Amino acid sequence: MTDLTKLGVAAIRSGVASGEFTAVEVATAFNANVAAAKALNAFIVETPEKAIEAARAVDSDRAAGKPLGKMAGVPIGMKDLFATEGVQTTAASHILEGFVPTYESTVSANLWKAGAGMLGKLNLDQFAMGSSNETSYFGNVISPWRRNDGSNAALAPGGSSGGSSSAIAARLCPAATGTDTGGSIRQPAAFVGISGIKPTYGRCSRWGIVAFASSLDQAGPMARDVRDCAIMLEAMAGFDPKDATSLDLPVPEWEAGLSGDLRGKKVGIPREYRLDGIDEDIAAMWDNGIAWLKDAGAEIVEISLPHTKYALPAYYIIAPAEASSNLARYDGVRYGLRDLPDGAGLQDMYAATRAAGFGAEVRRRIMIGTYVLSAGFYDAYYTQAQKVRALIARDFEAAWAQCDLILAPTAPSAAFGLGEKTSDPLAMYLNDVFAVPASLAGLPAMSVPGGLDKQGLPLGLQIVGKALDEQGVLNAGLAIEERAGFTAEAEKWW
Ligand code: GLN
Repeated sequence: MTDLTKLGVAAIRSGVASGEFTAVEVATAFNANVAAAKALNAFIVETPEKAIEAARAVDSDRAAGKPLGKMAGVPIGMKDLFATEGVQTTAASHILEGFVPTYESTVSANLWKAGAGMLGKLNLDQFAMGSSNETSYFGNVISPWRRNDGSNAALAPGGSSGGSSSAIAARLCPAATGTDTGGSIRQPAAFVGISGIKPTYGRCSRWGIVAFASSLDQAGPMARDVRDCAIMLEAMAGFDPKDATSLDLPVPEWEAGLSGDLRGKKVGIPREYRLDGIDEDIAAMWDNGIAWLKDAGAEIVEISLPHTKYALPAYYIIAPAEASSNLARYDGVRYGLRDLPDGAGLQDMYAATRAAGFGAEVRRRIMIGTYVLSAGFYDAYYTQAQKVRALIARDFEAAWAQCDLILAPTAPSAAFGLGEKTSDPLAMYLNDVFAVPASLAGLPAMSVPGGLDKQGLPLGLQIVGKALDEQGVLNAGLAIEERAGFTAEAEKWW
């Protein structure tokens, strides 16, 4: 039999539906890959029994002639930011270690309803704060990719959804959930040569997802190709009365609407993204992307997003501000860790628990966030950043008068080595420079593989669309995928 772990979501779904193989066979094959890949540290918790249980249910539904869901028989990885009933949920933090939710997040519940099964909880940057997975309390995830210089340096899988990206690229799962606050689906997807889409803010419910920056957080799928992302996003999305920012709109049939024919579409190329000193491999890949979209029938226009250079500073005020407020709930009383020194009072317990439970990057963000929200500095930082955010959204609004979609690189570089940026938080933050504007504006944005750089590492192309136009974004992603012919894979060493 073919190696079932080589298959993506669509192929698994149709093979299970046609009876070519069973869902249990698929789950068994992926469970074995997960068990054999400890060196990547992609999972915090493995749940092979959950994957089998879900697969058995699909196989028996099929035998009984019952209709099968969109993700029937597909085992997936679940970023450990989604609350999963009865399964430890940590956000890769010490403070939530041992927290076993008594409820299920809406997005994961939607996926189980659609017939998916859970292989385990995927590692990530602590509270989704980071771009390399190095802030995880459970140790960093390692990318399956290596440079072609023979150095064997361990590379970052991107972040924060680095467990998701690494696991998919290493074929430990055909697809995984991600969340994206300022690039955490797109940048890790780019780093390992897979696809991922952050939908319009409000498409996927945030209920039951550990909150980082609530006005930015969005869940989305990561998978091997555009079709698989479309299938999985359909299963994840939908109105949820439990999330006040959830959009009360029907979920479009994105998979059925897929078409790589871009005739009649205008694609904008933002001038401000051509940074001085842009990596030449990134620039060349971007040019290829432009040529591919032209070939697919799109008209290319140059556009301007004049406030781009303020996006990163605004993001690194707004996100920490919201984080400092969201993370106030971790106090040693309600969840996970409690540090109660001898004879200590309540305040001492809060302080000791938070000092012991949060990692350095999370503490940094809480301090920055608290500072920018404090009485004397609120207007100078937070209000100012909110104004900049409005200007960035307005930049995109103005651009839509000239184009339907925007094409840019996903990240300014290929995957960097673990440890290369940890001593310089600003260098780490700079990696988000192309991803953050779409987040601030709440727009759908996707990364698809665009080629390899000179070191043999994957690079990603990013497509940004108008609010609610996931279809346009997916279709442009498909047009690129059809032309990029990206088949490179990490050589197995783990
Ligand atoms: N890397 C960004 C940060 O550290 C984005 C993280 C995310 O999207 N969750 O905030």
